[in-house]
Amino acid sequence: MNIVIMGPQGSGKSTQAELLAKKLNTVHISTGDIYRSIANQNSDLGRKIKEYIEKGELIDDETTFTVVDKHLAEIKSGFVVEGFPRTIGQAEREIVPVDKVIYLRLDDNEATKRLLSRGRTDDTPELIAQRLKLYYLDTVPVLNYYRQQGKLLEIDGSKTIPEVHNLILQSLGI
Ligand code: ADP
Repeated sequence: MNIVIMGPQGSGKSTQAELLAKKLNTVHISTGDIYRSIANQNSDLGRKIKEYIEKGELIDDETTFTVVDKHLAEIKSGFVVEGFPRTIGQAEREIVPVDKVIYLRLDDNEATKRLLSRGRTDDTPELIAQRLKLYYLDTVPVLNYYRQQGKLLEIDGSKTIPEVHNLILQSLGI
């Protein structure tokens, strides 16, 4: 089964993707993790990605397709992906069939509070606000895209980590 986990910054996508992938015995892919690791490389691409991340901007779709294609091509037995697709262009490309999309709902205040305590270098108040702005602009339309396809499962992301995990399993009928 191919599963996408979506939700605003701080909604727990990465934590829940990891738990779910473990439970399903499949692969967890995070485009954020992939991009952070490329940003640490001393290469033209690394420097370009670093610049985007430091500005709180999304990496352009063409670069994202190349990077995601490379990772997904190796996977044969399903995955849990998080951080992708993040724009309508990325969703419409339909690189691989998506079976279900888990949407972790969380309000901005709670999201910002969690991110500030996480303390990643791009988790300053300014960059959090910038990324949330792009989330509403670019990513919320992707939620609607999957909702129309009947693939969206909405979960209350404000609950504890094990509670959210169980709600996800329930919604998937596992
Ligand atoms: P957050 O959810 O807090 O924004 P992520 O770890 O998902 O953090 O992403 C970190 C950064 O990586 C983003 O700000 C963006 O620059 C880049 N990124 C991750 N996934 C994508 C994507 N699918 N398309 C474009 N840029 C992406």
